[in-house]
Amino acid sequence: MGLKKCPNCGSDRIGRGKLSGYAALQPVGKALSFGSAIIADVCSDCGFIFNMYAEKPEKFIPR
Ligand SMILES: [Zn+2]
Repeated sequence: MGLKKCPNCGSDRIGRGKLSGYAALQPVGKALSFGSAIIADVCSDCGFIFNMYAEKPEKFIPR
């Protein structure tokens, strides 16, 4: 596991952000279920957001 680098400016000062609440990612077709928060890596130098992923990917298992 190497250091993450910002694809925009090359900085390695990468923080981690979390989108939750109304911005959470909802499984399509399961409007009433709770979704998953979104975790994202954020460059603390330029603010670029990259590598977004679901906190609970098991909620998106296709049937
Ligand atoms: Zn950056």
